[in-house]
Amino acid sequence: MQRRVQPTSEAVRAANRARVVDILRRSGSATRAELVSGTGLSRATVSSLIGELADRGLVSELPQPAADAPGRPPTRLALNRAAGLAIAVDVGVRHVAVAVGDLSRSVLAERWVSLPQGHSAERGTHIVMRSIETTLAEAEADRDQIVGAAISIAAPIAPDSGRFLVPGVLPGWNGSELAELIGRTWGIPAAVENDANLGALGESVVAAPPGGDPHGQDLLYVKLASRVGLGIAFGSRGAFGSRIHRGHDGYAGELGHVTADPDGPACWCGRRGCLELYAGAEGMLARLAARGIRIDDVNELIRRAEAGDADVLAVIGDGTRRLARSLGALALVLNPSVIILGGELTALGPLLLDPVHAELAAVPFGAPVAVRTSTLGPRASLMGALALVLSESSRFTDQSSAPVAANPGRVTAPAAAPSRSLKSPSHPSPSRPSL
Ligand SMILES: [Zn+2]
Repeated sequence: MQRRVQPTSEAVRAANRARVVDILRRSGSATRAELVSGTGLSRATVSSLIGELADRGLVSELPQPAADAPGRPPTRLALNRAAGLAIAVDVGVRHVAVAVGDLSRSVLAERWVSLPQGHSAERGTHIVMRSIETTLAEAEADRDQIVGAAISIAAPIAPDSGRFLVPGVLPGWNGSELAELIGRTWGIPAAVENDANLGALGESVVAAPPGGDPHGQDLLYVKLASRVGLGIAFGSRGAFGSRIHRGHDGYAGELGHVTADPDGPACWCGRRGCLELYAGAEGMLARLAARGIRIDDVNELIRRAEAGDADVLAVIGDGTRRLARSLGALALVLNPSVIILGGELTALGPLLLDPVHAELAAVPFGAPVAVRTSTLGPRASLMGALALVLSESSRFTDQSSAPVAANPGRVTAPAAAPSRSLKSPSHPSPSRPSL
């Protein structure tokens, strides 16, 4: 008896292929069983799509880890560099960092450069562009392989315009102009995002081991540096990995401007007594200066705290208690699985962690909220920028969206990216066997 074959249009197949690729981008790697459950497609369809992607050099099997238990662990699949490369840029007050990674989350090259004090925006932009060029060269990246760039900025950003809301941070810099320049130069989509949001996304990737909870974490990342920022990354049922929660019009996470004392000092945001005036390093230094104690920077603040300076300890103790109370309120409202503390002030160690632990242990409902310092440390926002290109795949295209050509060595560019020609893989990864 002849088997009845259901006709499958290329559009349906392309949509199914995009679902497989999307899960691989979000999760870094997946087994065939995870792809079947994640897409809802049949095992045969998933196998056929994986075979097609492998034939085009876009997907590889990951090397098997040494098995502790008897029985062969299921093979994990990942996108390889032929599927696309992502550029991550982190612009801080004193540094520029650039990473180039593939869509399986492997970092191929990473570069950190100091920003000179009092630099002009023009000079800073030049340093960013040169750093990207050098890092791409170190990664031996083919220009046509780049699918997008995400730029982390250590400042509150107006979501509609990409402009910075604090004039004093990175004077003259404009987030959207930098993104446009990067996008234009390399012919790719480029997005700018707040560093705390990206810190949350970066930590959510590290917190999710391969084969771990496919729905992602409900995670809060609190950046404690000159100012106080909050990134919220939520997991969701039926979707792999966590997503940044930006709120109604993009301003979610302005924890630094929750009122800690309505009669407190004036804040740049126009209100009084905002939390970051007490719990951020700049605010702590200002409070000490008001008492006639001049401390130049965060490092000296931490040194004086470690040395037991009573005035410094009093200001830090007051700030961390106010922060802890706000985090306790956040835990009640949002019920996160973990709160991660990042930024320079995490060097305070127990002076910071103890009051936060105590406050969260007193939350009356649910399992105790885990609190820890950032696993990625200063790299959290940079790794989050890479993760953004992977997790928001609708904003950043990849080679798998190209239609299959008769000659697999020459593939036509999709209509969505007419200016780019797509090539067959030019850098097969030697460490990963092909399927
Ligand atoms: Zn404020």
